[in-house]
Amino acid sequence: ASSRIPMVAGNWKMNFDHLEATAFVQRFARDLRARRFDFAKCEVALFPSFTSLRSMQVLVESDNLKIRYGAQTVSVTSQGAFTGDVSADMIARLGCSYVIVGHSERRKYHPEDDANIVDQVRAVLAAGMQPILCVGESLEERRKGIELDFAVGQVHDVTRDLSDAEATRLIIAYEPVWAIGTGLVATPQSAQDAARAFREDLRATFDGQVAGTVRVLYGGSVTSRNAIELIEEPDVDGFLIGGAALHVDELTKICMET
Ligand code: PEP
Repeated sequence: ASSRIPMVAGNWKMNFDHLEATAFVQRFARDLRARRFDFAKCEVALFPSFTSLRSMQVLVESDNLKIRYGAQTVSVTSQGAFTGDVSADMIARLGCSYVIVGHSERRKYHPEDDANIVDQVRAVLAAGMQPILCVGESLEERRKGIELDFAVGQVHDVTRDLSDAEATRLIIAYEPVWAIGTGLVATPQSAQDAARAFREDLRATFDGQVAGTVRVLYGGSVTSRNAIELIEEPDVDGFLIGGAALHVDELTKICMET
């Protein structure tokens, strides 16, 4: 068994306004408490829209909740004339622990390329938060049999310029694009193969303890029905969850299983 604490991260995408988010968190916290969920054994984090982060902070602080939270993306600049952007410091001031970086939907619908993603990772780290770096192949790479090289390449493009101290705070989410929101889930073996390949690349790039510390999450149609077998894999340290994170009962179940 590894010393890494597993993590369940719920990416709400563009769902729930701040009132819905607050109601969800109140019920979720109550359900986890009722089931005696042990936060020391599994970290739980939610990723609402920017507009809900302040409500999240007020609720978590006033009720002393152990649920963490973060943003779904971040600006690469710290301030100024960038209409519509939100800086890492602004996000950190709202009590966020993490920021999702390079989600495939951001790569697809916004101009978030590798250079921008590296800068986001740096901005998140500089503001004292942890980036959850999303990588993963599309069906095209998988059909060609180059999925591992592709995903490891995406990680390597970001990590190669980081210091050991920076890299050790990274969280990687392996999210094959064909598995996101499709109901198609990677086999436990292919999630494990990817997670191990990332760790081997980290081992080759950084000081020994970095590869053992970085958590690798799996994401792509995770539900309470497939989470158990995925988490049994030695290099899979938890989940980044989209659709299933919109349902309190389902998310609670996955937390209990992780
Ligand atoms: C995601 O968008 O990060 C994701 C994994 O979505 P889903 O769980 O719905 O496949």
